[in-house]
Amino acid sequence: MRVVRAKSAGFCWGVRRAVDAAAAFAREAAGAPVWTDGPLIHNSREVARLAALGVRTCADPAALPAGSRLLVRAHGVPPARRAWLGSLPLALRDATCPKVTFIQKLCARAAEEGRAVLILGDPDHAEVVGLLGHAGERGRVVTGPADVAALPDPGAPVALFSQSTQEPALFEATAEAVRARWPDALVRNTVCDATRARQGELAALAEACGAIVVVGSPESANTQRLAALAARLRPTVVVDRAEALDPAAFAGVRAVGLTAGASTPDDLIAEVETRLASF
Ligand code: SF4
Repeated sequence: MRVVRAKSAGFCWGVRRAVDAAAAFAREAAGAPVWTDGPLIHNSREVARLAALGVRTCADPAALPAGSRLLVRAHGVPPARRAWLGSLPLALRDATCPKVTFIQKLCARAAEEGRAVLILGDPDHAEVVGLLGHAGERGRVVTGPADVAALPDPGAPVALFSQSTQEPALFEATAEAVRARWPDALVRNTVCDATRARQGELAALAEACGAIVVVGSPESANTQRLAALAARLRPTVVVDRAEALDPAAFAGVRAVGLTAGASTPDDLIAEVETRLASF
């Protein structure tokens, strides 16, 4: 079976930057642990690789001994948490993706202008929690056009932004609903270019292939979103390890498309590619 691998499969720029920052921090620590403020990445293989370097997940930074090293994740944090982390006696380093920082600033500026700030995103996702913190009291998370229709009138001008990993088509549908209610709304599509490229490549994969394989963890929201989009185009299999692939699922398939979520490491994608090619 021929395997067509998407160029955008795997780590996005921001995740790679955060992983590299954690590894560099660990090298400087020379054996002492480096803590991350929550899981650095939603992939157990990569978490294990980083753990071998001394990078561990911290559940409660206040409980760390003074002088401990702590890294803020690519998702970013609300301003209040950033200030609290800065007040602790820790060596703090910030690996917030600059593209997320940009969206945080847009949210904060819109709130300063007196706007109600709508954020299209997954309400429980760390990036969205951070964005909401920057939007302040007037911030609201919406998950699509229906939420926009159900919102009480905020009594203020409205702004709409997006979590970096949302689906561009969903953003456009949500933006249409916002403009229909508030024609003067400030609308800015902040879906990241890495997300657009990854989702955009699916169409080419579907055209060239009879099935699609998406590699990533069940806990990775962007992997699951990518898989849902792929399933609209072709029969889709989602796996988090090569051994989970069942050859019977590809009977009659001559070419398979291969892509992966933003938290999937390259070596895992390569293993899946090798096994698919052996079918
Ligand atoms: S998806 Fe985009 S904004 Fe989010 S971490 Fe990756 S590069 Fe940064």
